Amino acid sequence: MKVSQRAQEVPASATIAVTSRAQELKAQGVDVVGFGAGAPDFDTPDYIKDAAIASLKAGQTKYTPAAGIPPLRAAIAEKLRKENGLDYSPDQIIVNIGGKHSVYEAMQAVLDPGDEVIMSTPYWVTYPETIKLAGATAKIIQTDKSTGYKITPAQLRKAITAKTAMLLINSPNNPGGFTYTPKELKALAEVLAGTNVCVLSDEIYEKLIYGDTEFVSFASLSEDAFNRTLTLNGFSKTFSMTGWRLGYTAGPLDVIKAMGRLQSHMTSNAVTFGQYAAIAALGAPAAEAIESMRKEFERRGQYMTERLNGMDGVECCEATGAFYCFPDVSSHYGRSINGAKITGSMDFAKALLDQANVALVPGLPFGCDNNVRLSFACSLEQITKGLDRLKEWLSQ
Ligand code: PMP
Repeated sequence: MKVSQRAQEVPASATIAVTSRAQELKAQGVDVVGFGAGAPDFDTPDYIKDAAIASLKAGQTKYTPAAGIPPLRAAIAEKLRKENGLDYSPDQIIVNIGGKHSVYEAMQAVLDPGDEVIMSTPYWVTYPETIKLAGATAKIIQTDKSTGYKITPAQLRKAITAKTAMLLINSPNNPGGFTYTPKELKALAEVLAGTNVCVLSDEIYEKLIYGDTEFVSFASLSEDAFNRTLTLNGFSKTFSMTGWRLGYTAGPLDVIKAMGRLQSHMTSNAVTFGQYAAIAALGAPAAEAIESMRKEFERRGQYMTERLNGMDGVECCEATGAFYCFPDVSSHYGRSINGAKITGSMDFAKALLDQANVALVPGLPFGCDNNVRLSFACSLEQITKGLDRLKEWLSQ
């Protein structure tokens, strides 16, 4: 059967591909250490599961309004007001089927063919594809370790053209594990003043920050920033709910309404009992549940960063957010390890998996071929084992 041009042009997610390959090897009995995970390794807290079960038992099993049930939209508005200093009314909020869907739908609602979207390396693999699917073009700012992989106001100013419709910001960042400081974000927001550029601020890792890192929502930086920003967030990472498929977008009423119209034809509402569970998730036990997970990630992230920086030819910035280390391993490129020629991150990841049974994600699909991504969403024991293997492999 014919496959559309559009679908042919979209590659499968590279992160999912590595995880699948590692799972395949595990199923064959190979002792693989997987650093590919994009999901917390904790279970969803019981108080959230209990709320889903109660809502099912109470018969919450039918369609809801496409944009989500009013009490959930109100609970999200309250969360954004209290925690993020953002004053959205519930009708400025739409509940989507995961943050990935929020990104897709926001782009469909805002972008036209010919529009340019500014984003920077390293980027989440889904962004370029969703931009393409909206008929727009990604304008990619290349970053490196010298600025901690963050873009500067000068770089942003230079990238803006008459065609620029959107700036994508993802802080804390996947795959970079870095977080923009409030001051850095403010400087970027100032560059946008007087332009027509909207901002899609992907804040899905907001609660996973470490050390003295401060999180600030882009839309809270100024009134101007508020008016030009779509704030994207979800339940996957904060509450360890990746399988529940719950994300949300908040922003100007006309865009949120447009997203609602699209959603009413594409998917309709997010799963009904999941929405009731999401109200519970945002309730009183949230802070404690999140903090215990955050602390554990912090411990692992520090350990992983230290160990990586202790390896020959590996340079890793401090992980200030999310659950990823993104070391530069390019000084090993050009070498042969056990007969495998390492020319870039793809060869690096493949040879490491084949020879040492360690799965990590090559940086190339994130726009940074010098780097590889290691997730610390796995036990400290697995991290130690995997890093011992990596160190040993690199020394060959
Ligand atoms: N944004 C970023 C930067 C992500 O890493 C992810 C998950 N990998 C998402 C959004 C979407 O997550 P979900 O669809 O599970 O809500």
